[in-house]
Amino acid sequence: MKPCPICKKPAVEASKPFCSERCRDVDLNRWLSGSYAIPARDGEEEDEDGDGLNLPAGDRRDR
Ligand SMILES: [Zn+2]
Repeated sequence: MKPCPICKKPAVEASKPFCSERCRDVDLNRWLSGSYAIPARDGEEEDEDGDGLNLPAGDRRDR
């Protein structure tokens, strides 16, 4: 089995290809914020002025 792409630990069946749900979340967040604009079409267009959701992960983390 391939190792977890996030932390390189052995992956587990339940969260393949990651070692845990936590790493899966990390990867998901990375993917969402890095290369994909979240289609906020639930009537929450006020969020579109970029107060968090549209920022790359890690850029504003130390605020
Ligand atoms: Zn991991």
